[in-house]
Amino acid sequence: MRPDLLLRPMQPLVMEALARAFRLQRLDEAASAEGFLAEVGSRIRGMAVNAHAPVDAALIDRLPNLEIVASFGVGYDTIDVAAARRRGIVVTNTPDVLSDEVADLALGLLLATVRQIPQADRYLRAGRWPEKSFPLSATLRGRTVGILGLGRIGRAIAQRLEGFGVAVAYHGRTPQDVAYAYHPTLLDLARASDVLMIVAPGGPETRGIVNAAVLQALGPEGIVVNVARGSLIDEAALIAALRTGTILGAGLDVFAAEPHVPPELTAMDHVVLLPHVGSGSVHTRAAMGQLVVDNLTAWFTGRGPLTPVPETPWSPRP
Ligand code: NDP
Repeated sequence: MRPDLLLRPMQPLVMEALARAFRLQRLDEAASAEGFLAEVGSRIRGMAVNAHAPVDAALIDRLPNLEIVASFGVGYDTIDVAAARRRGIVVTNTPDVLSDEVADLALGLLLATVRQIPQADRYLRAGRWPEKSFPLSATLRGRTVGILGLGRIGRAIAQRLEGFGVAVAYHGRTPQDVAYAYHPTLLDLARASDVLMIVAPGGPETRGIVNAAVLQALGPEGIVVNVARGSLIDEAALIAALRTGTILGAGLDVFAAEPHVPPELTAMDHVVLLPHVGSGSVHTRAAMGQLVVDNLTAWFTGRGPLTPVPETPWSPRP
């Protein structure tokens, strides 16, 4: 019999592929979550979820036979992995298949912010060019880009930055075997950089670490680009820094309370704002969806998960 899978809505192609191998149970379509969990909770053996709705300990507790949570996306800060681990439940994500796409977007966002590309487009469309040339912008030339989180995506960003001929530095918890300058604290990295590229995971450990002091250290030419999670930035401090000229501008793909964006930000012209589209191409979302399907089918055919997160490692029983 096909295993029961609790499903959060995903791309139609992924849902179709999952429907062939599993009996899909849709919590989001249930009239009452309580009634739904009472009825099917004990049958659920797997979950396919996206990063939008949390998988917390309370939900995990209601699923006594849950074996695997397969998440669509590389960040899994909305999943209580500690609660999963305590129960021996494997959590998988979709690393690597999106790194190049997100790195491309990060570079686009950086250039758009520094060279004011969206603003120039708006200027032209508003018919202002015949009156006066668009004002001169800041430049990427001569900058040092500090990467917070030199992981899979961070490295792909660094590779691209080498092609742009700018200096790269980084901060993470541990130095790596790379030629870029390592800074043991985020404050040190901000002091040494005039672009801060944020690409470390969300979650309690990184909440608000890009704070007023870090923005101050980045300085008046400073640009913040965030393609990680909104939670890493103290958003009130960022708004204040943008207002007072403590930094020059920001390019943001992610926000603290998505999809709600502070009106203070949307009112500013020296920021570029994107609706969390880092991995959002047809090509890459399909690859991510396929990896969700592959993780679940590998698990339920006894081959183990393909990409378990480090907190729930898996090895075959001897
Ligand atoms: P990785 O796990 O490969 O890299 C994360 C990096 O962050 C590592 O280098 C790690 O280094 C560093 N890091 C982890 N914890 C901390 C910490 N507390 N302080 C400082 N650095 C830390 O992840 P990926 O590169 O694959 O993805 C990074 C993030 O990007 C994801 O977690 C996700 O939230 C976000 N993302 C956003 C997307 C979008 O659409 N905008 C799309 C895809 C991902 P070390 O261990 O040495 O600290």
